[in-house]
Parts: sequence; C-alpha cells; structure tokens
Amino acid sequence: MRISEIKTFALKAPLGEERFWSSQCPFPERKSLLVRIATDDGVVGWGEGGQYGPAEPVAACIDAVLAPRILGQDPRERWKIWEQLYAFSRDFGRNGVYVDAISGIDIALWDITGKVLGEPVFRLLGGPFRTSVEAYATGCYYRGHDPLDVAASLEAVAAEARSYREAGFRILKTKIGLLPVEQDLERIAAVRAAAGSDCVILADANHAYNVPTAIRAGRGLERLDVRWFEEPVTPEDREGYRQVRRSLSIPIAGGECEFTRFGFRDLFTGGCVDIAQPDICAAGGISEWQKIHALADSFGVWVIPHVWGSGVALAAALHALAATPPFPHTANPVPLQNEPVIEYDRNPNPLRDELLKERITVSAGRLPVPQGPGLGIEVDEAVLSRCLPSATSPST
Ligand code: CA
Repeated sequence: MRISEIKTFALKAPLGEERFWSSQCPFPERKSLLVRIATDDGVVGWGEGGQYGPAEPVAACIDAVLAPRILGQDPRERWKIWEQLYAFSRDFGRNGVYVDAISGIDIALWDITGKVLGEPVFRLLGGPFRTSVEAYATGCYYRGHDPLDVAASLEAVAAEARSYREAGFRILKTKIGLLPVEQDLERIAAVRAAAGSDCVILADANHAYNVPTAIRAGRGLERLDVRWFEEPVTPEDREGYRQVRRSLSIPIAGGECEFTRFGFRDLFTGGCVDIAQPDICAAGGISEWQKIHALADSFGVWVIPHVWGSGVALAAALHALAATPPFPHTANPVPLQNEPVIEYDRNPNPLRDELLKERITVSAGRLPVPQGPGLGIEVDEAVLSRCLPSATSPST
C-alpha cells in the first residue's frame, strides 16, 4: 500500500455577524485547511492542518514541499513519516506553518490506517474510556456594532448564556480581555447570573494581559467562581505564565498556540499551566498528541485539547479524548474534575456543521465519538467545493 495522491483544500465560510475576541477584532470568517490523502488501492483519509493563520501558506507547504517527500510511502508508517518530515524541516520549521502541515498529513494517515484495519482511531490509540464526551460551549464573544458598548452587551451575553443552558450545556466559556478588567468582570457576572450557580464557567483572555493585569483579572475571576483562566498572557512569556499561576488559585490553561512535545516540555518544566490545550490540528497531529499527553501526565498537567476548525478537527479531537484516561482514575469520573471535556464553539461554523455527511451533534451536553473505521466520518465533497474560494490545488 502506497500514498498515491495528496490534495489540499483551503476553505472559507462566512460567519454572518462579526464576532470579536481580545486579539482578533474583528474575526470575519471561518477558514480551514483540509488534506486529502489517497492510496494506490483506493483508500482515502482526511486531515486538517493549521487553525489560526491563513490556510494558503499551509497548503503551499504541503503541495510544494512535504507531499513530494512522502508520495510512494506506506501510509500506515505514521511515526516514521512524522519524524522524517519534522527532521527535514527542523532548520526552518519546528512550529507554525510546517508543523500545521505535518499535523494535517498525520491526521489523514491515522484515518487511512484505521480504515485499512477496519478500526476507529480511538481503538488504535489504546481503546475507549467513553463513547461520548461532555462538551463545553465556547461563546459570549464580543459582538454587535460596538463591542466596546458594555451596557448593550450585558443583556446579549446573558441571553446567550441562557440559550446554552437551554441547549443542555453545563459548562460555558466566555471571552475576556478586550475591555477594562472591571467591565469584563461585569460581563462574566452577567453570564454567571444568567447561567445559574450550578453552571461551570471558564474564561479565555486570548493572551490579552501583562502579568500584573492578569493577576488583577484572575482575582476577579476567582471571586466569580470561574473554573479556569485561559491564555492570561502571551504564549511566549513563559515566565509571565509562571508568575500568574503562582499568584492565583484559579487553574491556568494554555497551549493552543504551542507546537510539538518540545514546546509543551517548556510549558511543563516552567510550571506554566495546570491544563495544557494542544490543538491536534496545529501541534503535530494525533501522533504528537500522544507524546504531549504522556509528557503532561508525567508532570501532573491535565490535557484538554483546543478545538476549532472543521468537522475533521472535531472528529480527531473526539477520538483522542475517547482514548484519554480520567485524570486521575476514580470509580466515578466527574466532567472537568477528573473527566475530560471537549471544546464546542457555538458561533456559526458551516465547515464543521455542514461538511460531514453525518453531522456530529451535541445531545444533553455531550458529543458522541464517531464509531466507524478511521475518523469515522465522511466528508461531503459537494459542500467542500462550495467552501472553496477558488479551484482546488493541483494534484501532486
Ligand atoms: Ca482559547
């Protein structure tokens, strides 16, 4: 069995009303880079690479640089291919576009391997601990004509929080960091009042703060019983992470902008985070997820992945989480206490909700793990074509 074709698809989909977070104002559209790998005997696997920047550079990296290096290889040799591509790009890669590209290729190879063996990816990862995962609703973004108008936004975030509870979510994540700290805390207080005292609330600053401001914000979050404080400071400021974490009792989450086991090693040895959030489609794929998870476990750090992107990214995260043990084991794992949860962004996302022939939908606050071979999903290529701003990349 050999890899015979690799194609990339730089997808875009409109978001409707613009949304904002602290570092992206505005955030106008959804984008995603899908990778389709075919074998000489007709097996097709899908992957996704890159979550934050434009998809086109990742597509170019795969098309022009990485794909020619792995054509003709056995797609089941995932680790070997990963090491080969990483070693090739070490001098100029190690993060960003090159690791995004490797991530997309790696996920597609896991999909192929599962299909060849007739087994879901979670079984290749060691077998399932669960068949569905508690989902947390990411929402309450800044929005509207004037995202800085606090009074107008309080009612909107309260209504949004209520809608998530009505939809069955028990955990919500809100944005902070765009407004003065006191005003952002008002927004979270409004979310708390609307969502109820039995709702778990998380807060994500998207690295908006310097250290003293993060500590001030974090103390406010503690008073509002917020369960984690995500990306308080910039990802490269590891000493800042450490200072914030030492100064607060609220758990610190971070790592969605980090790459590979080597980047996460530095977060762990630096004592930077309680919860690591690798994005499987950016940090190195499913192969690297395994290594980051093992490393985190040995440092007593919990891993709850960042999830963005299309239905392919969601499926990859669900398989990884299906095969993730509770942290630590108990006879009755409790979501977000020791039982992992999955991020489920609630802004419009046709790339996630329309791209798969069988949509993955939340039920009673949980997302089902696809049970079919490989990633257990089927990409609807008609929808895929609609989301292409231009023609597909040339076959390699
Ligand atoms: Ca985040």
